[in-house]
Formats: sequence, structure tokens, C-alpha cells
Amino acid sequence: MSVNYVSTRDLNKQEITASQAILKGLADDGGLFVPTSIPKLEVPIEKLAEMTYQQVAYEVLKLFLSDFTEEELKHCINSAYDSKFDTEEIAPLVYADGAYYLELFHGATIAFKDMALSILPHLMITSARKNNIKNDIVILTATSGDTGKAALAGFADVEGTRIVVFYPKNGVSAIQERQMVTQKGDNTHVVGIKGNFDQAQTGVKQMFNDKALAAELDAAGFQFSSANSINIGRLVPQIAYYVYAYSKLLAEEKITSGQEINVVVPTGNFGNILAAYYAKNMGLPIAKLVCASNENKVLYDFFTTGEYDKNRDFILTNSPSMDILISSNLERLIYHIAGNDAAKNADLMESLKATGKYQITDDMRAKLDSFYGNYASELETGMTIKDLYDETGYIIDTHTGVAASVYNKYKKETGDDKVTVIASTASPFKFTRAVMGAIDSAYEQEEDFVLVDKLSELGKVAVPNAIEEIRSAPVRHDTVVEVEDMCAEVKRFLGI
Ligand SMILES: *Cc1c(COP(=O)(O)O)cnc(C)c1O
Repeated sequence: MSVNYVSTRDLNKQEITASQAILKGLADDGGLFVPTSIPKLEVPIEKLAEMTYQQVAYEVLKLFLSDFTEEELKHCINSAYDSKFDTEEIAPLVYADGAYYLELFHGATIAFKDMALSILPHLMITSARKNNIKNDIVILTATSGDTGKAALAGFADVEGTRIVVFYPKNGVSAIQERQMVTQKGDNTHVVGIKGNFDQAQTGVKQMFNDKALAAELDAAGFQFSSANSINIGRLVPQIAYYVYAYSKLLAEEKITSGQEINVVVPTGNFGNILAAYYAKNMGLPIAKLVCASNENKVLYDFFTTGEYDKNRDFILTNSPSMDILISSNLERLIYHIAGNDAAKNADLMESLKATGKYQITDDMRAKLDSFYGNYASELETGMTIKDLYDETGYIIDTHTGVAASVYNKYKKETGDDKVTVIASTASPFKFTRAVMGAIDSAYEQEEDFVLVDKLSELGKVAVPNAIEEIRSAPVRHDTVVEVEDMCAEVKRFLGI
């Protein structure tokens, strides 16, 4: 059965193909693209259990990306999940203290965004070719740290693409900035702005919406596209690792075929957990989807009350990739629990825009019964990291710490002891200072790279390449511009 895509806000349900949805990113009406139906897994799980990561990914992707040929998809998958990852397993499962940690951080930038951003450039180039687009694709991204580097690493030296990343000059961590400014690849451009993340984001959105600029670009053989997490080309590859995790558990005889498991996901923009929800709806035996938030607990409140309300203070935490008050991908879930009702969804999103909040109906709430939401305070997260290390020697990052902490609460509250997979979204080496500070406050005095070596010693894991590289790599990008000069800087880079 062929799957097409519709916008969550389109009353006419006009369908486009997967490759068109990947090229567009966001629908013109501001909605997100969702599949016309969620396909069922075709291959029995026992079969999947014998497969490599790449083979499982193919079995999942082919169901959602109907207009890609087998050859195209396999080429994209094999170009993405290769030696950029530091383990052949791509996403290994590690057991510690009663749960399986699905390590999604073995790619180029040691965070889970690599799982999707290493394949998106290939999906995009293939989509451009299929739709007879001759222009080069110019990816514009504003980043608060992680997405920018993962997108740069994904698109670097991919023929037919350029990528420009804007980041707040004084708004990212020292390690995050070094990761970006040392980026190789002649098609990459990294620009600091004299402003904050919101200003970077607004500047990028203005360029996307500027029709005169689009015409100018087109005349010069370019067009913009977006690599942000609402692109279905990022969502679909994330479904694959839940299927892979289940099949690995089966292969290792930790579960029997059909046995239900729980999944815990540290959540910000709701992309990762939505992928788990799609996996469940494909027929993967998942019981509970545990949505873990940090102190920005807008999703916990939503699951508890049925009201989404972003009117609150924004809290800076040690899990910055989850510091989000508008979880964009939640719109897809809202659309589904409204019975794929675009009018209802558009109303709620209008309310979010106008008042910063919306309330779902009781009928919709009833469809959320497979979700459990909770949150962890900074203190609880730190204690969870320390306890896990003390008991097992295994060191997790702050985002995964939020998930582990919420999982402990869930178990205590419900007594549910099903086999559980926790999505481990970043290497502890990416958040060394906060992780080491949680283990022992004495470490807070030390320098970043001293802490890196100490972490390696304590956790008995080698320093990842991504960190080794930036110790000595030369700075290749030193452009800093005023907010109002962002557009001029893009044109300068493209030579127009
Ligand atoms: C982006 C990110 C998250 C949040 O994922 P969403 O898909 O936005 O919910 C969690 N942890 C890390 C390390 C991330 O980079």
C-alpha cells in the first residue's frame, strides 16, 4: 500500500508524495506533514531479529517513503549508517540497573540527532532528483547548539547542497561552539550572530518566507530547504531504531515474540517520542510511552490536565536540548487523536498562537492512554546520574538522566516492571561538566578537557572521536554578524 502525506491543517487533505514532503519540510498552511495511514510492519519480528541496523531501517523506511525505489533507499541508508558511526551496531543496547539503554549517540556529533541528520541529506538529494529539481539545495538552520552541528556533519561535502548555520555568539556552550567552528566541508558556513537564539530563528524564518529572495536564489540556481525536526525525513528514520531495539531484545532472548515492552524518551520537541508512537501503531509491541521532561514541564502538565499552556517562564537547565516550551511535533499527535481532523487541529493551533494555550476534549484525552508523562528536577536528574554510576559504573548524560529519573518515578507509582528501553540521547562527553558535577561537586573546579579525561577514566570508555577532534582542530569559521545582516551574509556565501 502506498503512503502519501497531508498537512495537519489542510481541510481538503491534498496529498503529496514522501519526496515532495521531504523537500517542502513544512506545509504552506503552516501545518506538518503526516502519513495518510500508518503502515503495518510487513516482515515478522523474528525475521527482523536476524537483521543488521541497515536492513531493519530499510524494512521501516520503505513503508513510509513509498515513492523511493529500493535502490534509492538502500543507497541513502548505506551512505548514512556507515563508518561515521563508531560501532557497527549503530544503536547498541546497554543493560544497567533494570533497564536497557538504547545508545543513540554513536554518530558524528555524539547526540541522537545524528540518527536522522546523517540520512536526511541523502533523502533530500534523492527527492530533488526525483522531482526534477535542478537547483542546489541551501539548508538554513538556526541552532541553540546540537542541531547545528549534527546538520553540518550530515550535509558537509554532500554534492548539490550548501548549509548555513546561525548560532547566538554568546549563547552556546564552549564545546558546542568549538564543534561548529571547526566544521570541515567547502559547502558549509557557520555564522555567529550578535543576538540570542530567538533572533537567529526569526531571521531564518524571514528568509524562508521572503518571496523576492526565493526568486533571486532561483535565478542563481539555488533554493532553500529546512533540516529542522518537523521534516518527515527526520521523523521516519527515527522509527527504525525502536523496531531495531525490539528485535535485538528478541534476538538476545530478553523477551519472547509479541511480549510488550515500555519505552522511555527524554523529550523536547516531541519528535523522538512521536517516532516511538508511530512504531507502536505499526504493530511493534510497545505498552507505555513514557514522556520525560525536565523542569520545563509543559508536556507533563499537558498529559496530566489535557491543557497545553506555554505561558510560563523558560528555565535554563543542564539538559538544554529539552529546554522547549512549544513542542512542534506534538501537533502531529493532536491531529491523530482528533481522528485525523484537520479543522479541529487547526483550531487548537490557532488558539496556541493567539493565547499560548489550548484544551483538548475528553474524547481526545482518552486516546492518550498509552502515554505517561512526568518530569525530573535538576536535583533529581543529578542524583539519578550519580546513583546509576555508583551502583553500576555506567555513566549517562543529563538528558538521559531526566529519562532515567522519570522511569524510576513511573515504576514506583505503578509497579509496572515490563522490560523497558530508555532512549539514551547524548553521550555524557557532550555534557561533561554537568555530568561530572553530578558525580562529585569537586569536579566543578576543573577545566573542560581535564574533565573529559576524568570522565573517560571513571566510565572506562574511550574519549569519542568527536571530542578528540576538537581539542586540536583548526578554527575554520570566524564570521560574526549583526542580526540584520543575516540575509546579506547568506548571499555573500552563495556569491549572489
Ligand atoms: C533534541 C534532543 C532531545 C529532545 O528530542 P525531541 O525529539 O526534540 O523530543 C533530547 N536529548 C538530546 C540530547 C537532544 O539533542
